[in-house]
Amino acid sequence: MQLAPEYQVNIQGLHPIMRLPLKAAEKIWKAHGRPEGVTITAGLNGVHSAGSWHYCGCAVDLRNNYFNAVEKRQVFEELKAALPEYDVIGHSTHIHIEPSDSLAEKWRLI
Ligand SMILES: [Zn+2]
Repeated sequence: MQLAPEYQVNIQGLHPIMRLPLKAAEKIWKAHGRPEGVTITAGLNGVHSAGSWHYCGCAVDLRNNYFNAVEKRQVFEELKAALPEYDVIGHSTHIHIEPSDSLAEKWRLI
């Protein structure tokens, strides 16, 4: 697991609810030819929409822009399958992960 060097990635204060997604991603990225594992581009850092889960440490952005289109799709699908209780949202440069509403309710976050 790595923090993107070009951003001031802050994962201090990341909520424990995000450990499972990072563990799953690490395994998937390595299986897709990234020996360094997954690269986090945003935890608590960055500018996000108002009310974003990033601001309370309940979201991460994971780099996917080095994958080709097919791999990108596969990584996305594998991540979704591994994390049924999370919202996994694919963007062109990263995948955003946050807890689903039901998981957030279970943890009394909403
Ligand atoms: Zn995000």
